[in-house]
Amino acid sequence: MSRIVCKFGGSSVADAGQFKKIKNIVSSDAKRKVVVVSAPGKRNPKETKLTDLLYSTYDLASKHLDFSQPWNLIRNRYLEICSDLGIEPKVAEDLDILEKQLRDDVESITTDYLVSRGEYLSARVMSVYLGAEFVDTFPIITFDEKYRILPSSYETIAKALSDENKLYVLPGFYGSNTRGELKTFSRGGSDITGAILANAIDAETYENWTDVSGMLMADPRIVENPLPIEYVSYREIRELAYSGASVLHDESIAPCRAKKIPINIRNTNRPEDAGTIIGPTPESTKLPITGVAGRKGFSMIYIEKSMMNKEVGFGRRVLAVLESEGLSYELCPSAIDSMSIVVDTKKLEAVEHVVMEDITQQMHPDRIKIFKGISLIATVGHGMTNKIGVAAKLFTALAENQVNVRIIDQGSSQINIITGVDEDDMNKAIKAIYDAFTK
Ligand code: ASP
Repeated sequence: MSRIVCKFGGSSVADAGQFKKIKNIVSSDAKRKVVVVSAPGKRNPKETKLTDLLYSTYDLASKHLDFSQPWNLIRNRYLEICSDLGIEPKVAEDLDILEKQLRDDVESITTDYLVSRGEYLSARVMSVYLGAEFVDTFPIITFDEKYRILPSSYETIAKALSDENKLYVLPGFYGSNTRGELKTFSRGGSDITGAILANAIDAETYENWTDVSGMLMADPRIVENPLPIEYVSYREIRELAYSGASVLHDESIAPCRAKKIPINIRNTNRPEDAGTIIGPTPESTKLPITGVAGRKGFSMIYIEKSMMNKEVGFGRRVLAVLESEGLSYELCPSAIDSMSIVVDTKKLEAVEHVVMEDITQQMHPDRIKIFKGISLIATVGHGMTNKIGVAAKLFTALAENQVNVRIIDQGSSQINIITGVDEDDMNKAIKAIYDAFTK
């Protein structure tokens, strides 16, 4: 039987009420056999996520300071969930052991270990509540120093989850390196755990349960009632995520993409909603665009030099200056006698002086200038490919709304047109593009 891997994020395990919703979701489809959980998230906007409380606890304990304030919040949250669910999964004992270690021998545990206990305990409680088998991810998810999963790890996971009739619960967010040390992924990393498990067991679908009913075609703070995205391809979501529209960890795409496993973003609080499916490139699309997203905080280094196009190695040497300062670039549109390099403003500011000086000294440009306050807007969709008039429609919409376009970049894949506009014009531009392609 093909199985579904379901990952439930922090808001989905925030309290006992949320655990009950999960039980209903899991039991309503017999294929839902592998459950991955995050640590409990916020129950209201003022609360702190449990993972953050664990970081604060470690910080205080490692300085031998009183850590009882964050620690009691952690302890009480698990005990409250258990007592509200009417279960006794021996979590109190684990918490006592941890507390003693933090007090008497904090050097024996690492930050990653303590923080991983957020998901570990969450999974322990969930497994008891669902009557499922608990499987720890520490011994089965193994990666190298660049967090690349070892091929043997996929086999180990498949073996650990081999009984297709069994329900398994696993903690997200961590695994082990080749030295056998526990390591957490980057923040939001339980999404990655779910994707790895889906790959390892050749899941039919990877369901990622959160607190929104999937993705929208545009940011609802900018566009009123944007249409939901029913389907988005793996490639499109990468382009959209880069410009700020993100509902899941970007590293969770690759393990699913490798086996063409669809990822379904679902809402734990509205399980009746179909959500968004992220999958292989579709044959056809209803609309030319799938989504439009924008991000502020970019700068453009503009370099002008007469006969630049004849100077072999000009671009390479300019980029080498950026490389030596550890500065990556987003886009690099160029003309015959000029090139522009779009970079993240915050990263640029740390090395701005050196970069400007080095480029000036090495390249002798006629003019070099930095333009700050740029936002990049990605208009993304397979529906744009080989379609005449898409760019005309987009730029007409911007012109009609008095938006000055500073950068234009269309990748050769034709699924993304990036426009750079002044930050103040970003919302107006997104709205104009959205309206042009949906109304
Ligand atoms: N609990 C971790 C975090 O807050 C991992 C996750 O929730 O995915 O980042």
